[in-house]
Amino acid sequence: MPETRRPLIAGNWKMNGLADESLLQIKDLAARASKISAPACDVLICPPATLLRDLAKAAVGSPVTVGGQDCHANGKGAHTGDISVAMLKDSGAHYCIVGHSERRADHGETNEDVKSKAEAVLREGLIAIVCVGETLAEREAGTTLSVISDQVKNSLPLGATAVNTVIAYEPVWAIGTGKTPTVLDVQTVHAHIRSDLTGLMNDANRVRILYGGSVKGSNAAELMAVENVDGALVGGASLTAEDFWPIVNVCI
Ligand code: PEP
Repeated sequence: MPETRRPLIAGNWKMNGLADESLLQIKDLAARASKISAPACDVLICPPATLLRDLAKAAVGSPVTVGGQDCHANGKGAHTGDISVAMLKDSGAHYCIVGHSERRADHGETNEDVKSKAEAVLREGLIAIVCVGETLAEREAGTTLSVISDQVKNSLPLGATAVNTVIAYEPVWAIGTGKTPTVLDVQTVHAHIRSDLTGLMNDANRVRILYGGSVKGSNAAELMAVENVDGALVGGASLTAEDFWPIVNVCI
């Protein structure tokens, strides 16, 4: 991995976590990471929004930061149940995931919605993690690369740079299933994303492209060694420090 791309290991807790147990987990993770004298990667936890402020406080002074899992594209207004990027920032978030496949599937989010949300993230000075990934049907139909290109091109926020935007490639069929693509498949898609980005931004070579989908301690080293894989977006295996640390430890 080029010097210029500092890996990011990000945990997405989804709709999991109550205050007491979550605080224990982030403190455990922060303590482990704090023992590393010069961390070589960024470490992020995206908890439910209800926990952001407490977890951000608990991680202060450690290499661990926190982020949101989703946001509204508008700064404020009549959007019951939604959360703005300013609110996430106010609660201590440094990043926000947008376009996770569960948002795309469960809430009908289109590439255009994802792009608007990512642009809202950039307006507040946070870093957008833009998720892309093909379904099993798309993979079996042989359309993976064109689906990914379409998502990258149409979800990328205006003004995206390697500093404010991260791409996460997450094959939908690999999320939470225990299945992962082959190393060659991951390499092929990541190279394809890098090539797409090259046509869309000036500093494409410095954009971090994460892999996500059933990453765990036992497969993290192999996946993180793939060319153009600059870190991981981790769901299930990020919920406890015990499970997450072996993944972080590959890069830190
Ligand atoms: C995710 O939800 O982003 C994810 C990759 O989940 P898991 O690691 O559980 O497959």
